[in-house]
Amino acid sequence: MVLGVNFPKFELYSNTLTLDTPIEFIKGIGPERAKLLQQTLGINNVGDFLQFYPVRYLDKSKIYLISELNESLPEIQLQGKISELSELGVGRSKRLRAKFQDRSGSMELIWFQYSKWLKEQIPIGKELFIFGKITKFNNVFSMAHPEIEIQDNAPRPQHLIPIYPSSEKLTKRGLSQKFFRVLLKTLCLELPNLVQENLPQTVLEQYQLLSRESALLNTHFPQTVDWQLKADKRLKFEEAFFFQLAYGLKKQHHAASAVGHPFRVVGAFFKSFYADQLPFELTEAQKRVLKEIREDMRRPIQMNRLLQGDVGSGKTMVALLSMLLAKDNGFQSCLVAPTEILAQQHYIGISKLLEPTGLKVGLLTGSTKKAERELLHQDLRSGALSILIGTHAVFEKTVQFHNLGLCIIDEQHRFGVAQRATLWAKNKIAPHILVMTATPIPRTLAMSFYSDLDVSVIDELPVGRKAIITVHKKEKDRLSVYKFCEEEIQKGRQIYFVYPLIEESETLAYKNLQEGYAHITEYFKNYTCTMLHGKMLAKEKQKAMDEFARGDSQIMVATTVIEVGVNVPNASVMVIESTERFGLSQLHQLRGRVGRGADQSYCILMSSEKLGAESRKRIKTMCQTNDGFKISEVDLEIRGPGDMLGTQQSGVVDFKRLDLIKDYEIIKQTKDLVASLLKKDPKLQSPEHSGLKVYYLKNYRSKTKWSKIS
Ligand code: ADP
Ligand code: MG
Repeated sequence: MVLGVNFPKFELYSNTLTLDTPIEFIKGIGPERAKLLQQTLGINNVGDFLQFYPVRYLDKSKIYLISELNESLPEIQLQGKISELSELGVGRSKRLRAKFQDRSGSMELIWFQYSKWLKEQIPIGKELFIFGKITKFNNVFSMAHPEIEIQDNAPRPQHLIPIYPSSEKLTKRGLSQKFFRVLLKTLCLELPNLVQENLPQTVLEQYQLLSRESALLNTHFPQTVDWQLKADKRLKFEEAFFFQLAYGLKKQHHAASAVGHPFRVVGAFFKSFYADQLPFELTEAQKRVLKEIREDMRRPIQMNRLLQGDVGSGKTMVALLSMLLAKDNGFQSCLVAPTEILAQQHYIGISKLLEPTGLKVGLLTGSTKKAERELLHQDLRSGALSILIGTHAVFEKTVQFHNLGLCIIDEQHRFGVAQRATLWAKNKIAPHILVMTATPIPRTLAMSFYSDLDVSVIDELPVGRKAIITVHKKEKDRLSVYKFCEEEIQKGRQIYFVYPLIEESETLAYKNLQEGYAHITEYFKNYTCTMLHGKMLAKEKQKAMDEFARGDSQIMVATTVIEVGVNVPNASVMVIESTERFGLSQLHQLRGRVGRGADQSYCILMSSEKLGAESRKRIKTMCQTNDGFKISEVDLEIRGPGDMLGTQQSGVVDFKRLDLIKDYEIIKQTKDLVASLLKKDPKLQSPEHSGLKVYYLKNYRSKTKWSKIS
């Protein structure tokens, strides 16, 4: 017998019930709860309910003693007797209290807003099992609204009890653990009529997976831990499989439909630049990546490639050489940067490198003057201009190319998918696309997320770079930090001080920067300090950058405008203020502004005394490693994939069981499996694949549109 708060009963109409049946049609849910389920948990129909998986399980095979209780325990089971029952309070604060004892001690059971019926049902003096979450109040342990089971001689199942992702607020409004358990139990009885297998039989055998039906049953009501794990494995596998299938099909579609310009020759521009102008030997990783890009662009299929390379790994040179290949094949190319400063810097660097080749390079940003802009437009249309460097201004409709063959987007994480999309409209045949990012995405994520892009990785820094030394300092250390900076300046080095943007208050951010600047100029009065922030005009910003780059100023006090790509090799110290306000990838980007020359560089993370657990983890990670991939993995752990990629709209990363970090093996297995499956049966026509085809069309096709760059 099971007792407790109002215990809903559910009736189903099993002959008509399908996965699409709206939850309103399940008797006993009622319109109010149905609305709440839709709004707070996104559960609309029977299918959603079956995929509303438990977050954890209560192990009924374990019985705790009152003497070993502590508040951190999850929901637990105790065995004992109720000895006293009393009613307390009046009106709304009325409650029922019972004393519960086992052989090790006693505790309280509490019911709020209980019915007379419930009170009469409470079994005093009988041997019981109770379940619930322990809290401690006035030094006494108590359990509110426990589930009670009277001990009789019937054999007790040793199963795990599912705990669903609910909250106290939802519980109060009728969505209690018991509600979910009873409802799902009822639905699980219908499983044979409701679900069909969606993986091929051969796959189930090869990977030793439970059937879909059995997996759902055993995830909600596992008989043992072992069965629960088997169910878990099957559900993860299924999620990974269909995710890979969606992208596999999309890639297949792309290969068949995305016509591209074949760059067949490696010509004079590339060859002579490579032989005569290259200022350094390419790293092995740069060579490999360049080869991958060349192979891609040689085909009459549009390239769609993501180039990942840590800060300072030399992506710009790869971009430049790729643009020369475009030129050799008679095509124009453009390089798009996220900020004006960065576009300017690319323009200056690349123009200088290309000077001996006589190639014409243009710069187009938001602040390009009208007359200049018109000239650029003309040269682009006529084809006189081979390479255009710019900001998102190059995406404007008025910018028309003669024949754009390659578009490179630098520091991709700053661009939205929407912006990239407009690129397609530029030409009848779409240009090859190379997206470069310095915020490496964890390998698992790249593999699952960008499986419609090809991914190249520069996993090696140019020789001779010294690892940046990173330390964590607090306000009390400020003077010693300044002193250290001064010593570096005396050695001829330059320093950055960076202040966070404060989203809630731009004014406050500005004030912090101004105050910081005043403080720094006072201490470093014998040196020149430059300030740089987002509110300055483009011209002023450029002037400040130039001053610092020339070495006329020793200290740059800035907001995060300098985050991306700024290159002053003589700068050797990066002091980050209020580090706790920055995200990990941003910190890594900022740190990448130093360590660009041959000198030992330092990154000093300033923070307040008190730090939250997440901030501590971020700072610790920064102090421990310079490896962008490792950092991105920690970042993924902290933030979750949707947030990390800035694609909240993606229903696709919303995995229920799959963990992108921990389940790397499954992701890899399914990727290979899907690849070979599609090779044999690209249109999923074989009878063996009919189940998965139906499931795919119903559940995945519409969800995956967003990630297409077009
Ligand atoms: P990122 O990948 O962060 O964009 P950059 O392309 O700006 O890096 O390169 C960082 C610095 O390293 C630049 O000063 C560049 O000239 C230099 N560099 C790039 N490749 C090499 C190489 N193979 N050997 C030596 N220096 C290199
Ligand atoms: Mg760069």
